[in-house]
Amino acid sequence: MSDTADKQQSVFLTVDDALQRIRDNLQPVSGFEKRNLRDALGSILAEDVLSPINVPGHRNSAMDGYALNSSDLPGEGTASLKVVGNSFAGHPFDGELAKGEAVRIMTGAVVPEGADMIVMQEEATRSDDVIEIDGNHKAGDHVRGIGEDLAEGGVVLSRGKRLNPAELGLLASLGIAEVKVSRKLRVATFSTGDELRSIGEPLGDGQIYDSNRYSLFGLLSRLGAEIIDMGVIRDQRKAVEEAFREAAAIADVVITSGGVSVGDADYVKETLDALGKVDFWKIAMKPGKPLAFGNIDNAVFFGLPGNPVSVMATFYQIVQPCLRYMSGQSDSESLRIHVVTADKLKKRPGRIDFQRGILRREDDGRMVVHTTGNQGSHILSSMSQANCFIILPADWGNVEPGTLVEVEPFDGII
Ligand code: AMP
Ligand code: MG
Repeated sequence: MSDTADKQQSVFLTVDDALQRIRDNLQPVSGFEKRNLRDALGSILAEDVLSPINVPGHRNSAMDGYALNSSDLPGEGTASLKVVGNSFAGHPFDGELAKGEAVRIMTGAVVPEGADMIVMQEEATRSDDVIEIDGNHKAGDHVRGIGEDLAEGGVVLSRGKRLNPAELGLLASLGIAEVKVSRKLRVATFSTGDELRSIGEPLGDGQIYDSNRYSLFGLLSRLGAEIIDMGVIRDQRKAVEEAFREAAAIADVVITSGGVSVGDADYVKETLDALGKVDFWKIAMKPGKPLAFGNIDNAVFFGLPGNPVSVMATFYQIVQPCLRYMSGQSDSESLRIHVVTADKLKKRPGRIDFQRGILRREDDGRMVVHTTGNQGSHILSSMSQANCFIILPADWGNVEPGTLVEVEPFDGII
């Protein structure tokens, strides 16, 4: 047995072990860029953002009503106060309240000098410019304090935070137009296999369209990567070698699919051995057993299995957290929750399963997960029907309906 063949046979890893080994070899990319808010969605902050201002910047009202001073509240019965003006959002009352005075105020408007509370309009009786209020109120009622949301100089968002729509709004609320974010990861991808044809080409006997490059394109786009699509590379030593060299020279990360299983042409392994340091593993997961990982020159290399579902499952479970880490993202784990399975799930003990599931709310309001049916690693339509993985531990066998299972939605919350 050759060294490489020996290496392939001997390593069998759990997903967690593989992730640990890979993480030990990764560094977040250095380099950042400034982006305008509208171009920053999905990017990762390269520095803490401090608030340049207090938010709110002035005391303002949380309600429509009357601003007044709590010393004018009656001990018992009611008190009459004179309404001396208005404070509307954007148009503050520019005087100061004297004893026995109140100002009509709307939500968001500045609380005038001399006032320390708001009485809701429903709780005041007005006739002409006089209001009657009772004593069931207290100082501070319905007043939003200066800096209550964000204090000037405080950390608003930490380095490593992914910018989602809420963050864009938050930054805008501080008057920040531009942010310093990690530069985009440059990821080169290609597919290997003589049976593969690109869209637009006719299909000959036994040939199939290359789908992996497109699902990978979608997955990588969502992560905000800059994608270098190198197409289909033929199963020939020279073509494969050139593709790896070129990819490694231009990208931070090289991702291929196909050609890494036991039994695939040995020259892929030999080429990778010659160009860098790559390990060939068998991962104890289903789908997605074979995985190659290592370095080619300065690029990180992931060799994913060829089967379309295996590609996506290995990407979600192994590649995605690694790319998030490389882009400096601090929270790299996807959301997982527990729900009851409505269907029986077929499973053999041995490997952790990432079955395709459909999370759905039943008529009675309960959230349950259904199976998509056939779990073959070539059934790409199962990924399309599904909206989550159902994660079944290695030692589990068949799962009966009603069992609590762990699911990971494809579109998590980070
Ligand atoms: P391999 O790992 O190269 O032996 O491929 C395993 C299976 O996945 C085979 O049935 C291939 O035809 C299929 N496959 C490999 N690459 C692709 C691809 N890019 N698009 C669709 N199917 C593929
Ligand atoms: Mg192949």
